[in-house]
Amino acid sequence: MREPALDIDEKMPAIRLFLKSPTSAINFQAGTRIFNANDAADCAYMIDQGYVEIAVESYGQRETLELLGPGDIFGEMEILDGKPRITTATAVHDTNVLSISREQLLDDVNQSGSLTRQILVATLYRLRSVQEKNNHEVKNRLEQVSTNQDEDTQYQSVRTDAANQLRQRYDLAKAIENRQFDLAYQPIVNLLDGRTAGFEALLRWPQPDGTTVTPDQFIPLAEKTKLIVPLGVWILERALEAIQIINFRATQRGLGSNGTFVSINVSPRQLENELDVERIANLIEQSNVDPNCIKLEITEQALLDDPRMATIALARLKSTGASIAIDDFGTGYSSLNYLHRFPLDTLKIDRSFVSRIVDDKNRQYVVAAIIGLARDLGMQVVAEGIEEKDELQWLRDHACRYAQGYLLSKPVPFKESLAYLESSFDF
Ligand code: C2E
Ligand code: CA
Ligand code: CA
Repeated sequence: MREPALDIDEKMPAIRLFLKSPTSAINFQAGTRIFNANDAADCAYMIDQGYVEIAVESYGQRETLELLGPGDIFGEMEILDGKPRITTATAVHDTNVLSISREQLLDDVNQSGSLTRQILVATLYRLRSVQEKNNHEVKNRLEQVSTNQDEDTQYQSVRTDAANQLRQRYDLAKAIENRQFDLAYQPIVNLLDGRTAGFEALLRWPQPDGTTVTPDQFIPLAEKTKLIVPLGVWILERALEAIQIINFRATQRGLGSNGTFVSINVSPRQLENELDVERIANLIEQSNVDPNCIKLEITEQALLDDPRMATIALARLKSTGASIAIDDFGTGYSSLNYLHRFPLDTLKIDRSFVSRIVDDKNRQYVVAAIIGLARDLGMQVVAEGIEEKDELQWLRDHACRYAQGYLLSKPVPFKESLAYLESSFDF
């Protein structure tokens, strides 16, 4: 029997289908018409490189309204007002644009995302400035002398923000399509015997320059754009493969399936829709992985936003045999009420309670209460973010069974994490 491979090439078509790139890059040769008046408006554009002429044609006369350059957004107005194109857009040079789909833009409007607000402000400003301009006087926008410095500065900064956001969306969509992510694994240690009970899989985005972008810098955008849904599928597939390898190692050493689990973070947005939940459940069921080794981490917020859907989602996920952990416990609007309404197995105590616990009586009361509560409800407890020896000692003394934190190990590449299966921590 060979060790299962880490690659998931054959699964990519499904992810590609899922993505339907909400943002994609298109090249137009000089002179190419990007859209005509009366065309249906199906996307907006941001110029990455090159120039685009926006013009109107009336009585056979063509009149340039604007010459747009890198960072400018165009074609958004008709999507926002639901009407066909009123202008033509033509590439003046060899031009690269990033397109943002109608669906994505309207989704943003519905969420009142900041990109939308920025585009709206920019659109209104541009509309106003176009109206104020004498339409018969064709001016190169780049040569214009502004009469209102404040408005111009405001427009520039709005434009830069919107362009940056579009660029980030595009980079993220491309990175998902090209599977440029990685998972790091952080051991979760049993404080009774010092052995690694499991790992938390944590997303990383390695960059060409050798640096790594951490999830705090892109998960919020992935959630806002729903790219977290296909990304979450990739994370799950990757983590399930990791569990297979861990089990394979254990079997090879005659330990049987030793029950080492992998905790996988699931975003609230992955649970909003029954089809997405079904897909997660199917992946688990079809993976041949012992579901006892799968733990899905969900934040309190996911349960509170839409408790009805959360009930359905958790029941389905639980039916796969996987267990459910509540992440960052204590940081939400903890109505303790929900604890027994959902099929929960583990509470993860947030780092903010663990940090400097030895000096803070209040934190000690809170953590002791959480440990007691979990015990009474038959749940496991994991303390997160342990950095100091005395924090670990306090938790052990107060019957906290599992711990995770830099003191024990930082998140490490998968291959390195395997070494933890064969050693134990000394404290
Ligand atoms: P989280 O789920 O609470 O993950 C724990 C975070 O705390 C990780 O940050 C981990 O590296 C960090 N950490 C662990 N021990 C210590 C410690 O002793 N001290 C300090 N200062 N930090 C510690 P990371 O990897 O940057 O992830 C940040 C957050 O991004 C995660 O918080 C989670 O909410 C999200 N995230 C990470 N991976 C995924 C993923 O695969 N899917 C989803 N949806 N979210 C993810
Ligand atoms: Ca987590
Ligand atoms: Ca956490």
